[in-house]
Amino acid sequence: MTDGLLADGPAQSRRAWVTLVTNADYALGARALLRSLVLTGTSADLVVLHTDVAVADLAPLKALGARLVQVDLLPTSPGFNAAHARDALHARAAFTKGTKPPFHTPLDNFAKLRLWQLDYEAVVFVDADALVLRNSDVLFDYPEFCAAPNVYESVADFHRMNSGVFTARPSAATYHAMMARLDVPGAFWRRTDQTFLESYFPDWHGLPVFCNMLQYVWFAMPQLWDWKAIRILHFQYEKPWQDHDKAEQLRPLIDLWRAYAGDGPVPDIASLPGPA
Ligand code: UDP
Ligand code: MN
Repeated sequence: MTDGLLADGPAQSRRAWVTLVTNADYALGARALLRSLVLTGTSADLVVLHTDVAVADLAPLKALGARLVQVDLLPTSPGFNAAHARDALHARAAFTKGTKPPFHTPLDNFAKLRLWQLDYEAVVFVDADALVLRNSDVLFDYPEFCAAPNVYESVADFHRMNSGVFTARPSAATYHAMMARLDVPGAFWRRTDQTFLESYFPDWHGLPVFCNMLQYVWFAMPQLWDWKAIRILHFQYEKPWQDHDKAEQLRPLIDLWRAYAGDGPVPDIASLPGPA
């Protein structure tokens, strides 16, 4: 395909849902995400960008029909890598609203930008910790760059963007322009790809919050919750396959994720009860 990418087969469509997997934990997430996408009846390709992950962890993704595209992490400089190493980033820009799992490596997030090197006309990127709950192929007709606001505490959050779901148009020119902006002397992107993309696309188009509904909304802003409207549910911070201290508060969402992660039936989303 091009430098730094190696696909296991050709594209079947001009459009693709794309996610990223750099370790076994996110492969678990991606399996549930891919199954959710298959259940929506999407006609787009399903693409998993992955680093050096064990074949056994990728096999369930392949079995769901995914096109596996092996990628190198970005060729960023030692100074960039040191500034964005997990401990350094957590010390300089602590997470105060939730906890990042031990298997989350901030530097890996930047590999999302490889999607601009793919051989598709239009892609929608979705984090591996999300579920697509209804057919959302309409998003392929949206321009670059659309994303939803990073809302999970208050209306003030509508100022910020979340990079767990976004629309993009792959282009080598864009990829190279991004690389020229990303790793400049002294660069520190405190929320990694999210901060970078917000800066690269300052006029980002807003998707409805329902295109990237963050799990904390369930308890922090229950008035915003509407199962009939939610397209993509995103488990930001703690993951539904972990034991964590918000698990009881988020139980119905975790149970839903588990239904998708298993092989059995999934519930009718529109008829689920809302937050208490
Ligand atoms: N990711 C990954 N390995 C990592 C960190 C991130 O594969 O070590 C990918 C994965 O697709 C993940 C996304 O990048 O969903 C962003 O990370 P995460 O979802 O944990 O961030 P959050 O949504 O909690 O901000
Ligand atoms: Mn995420």
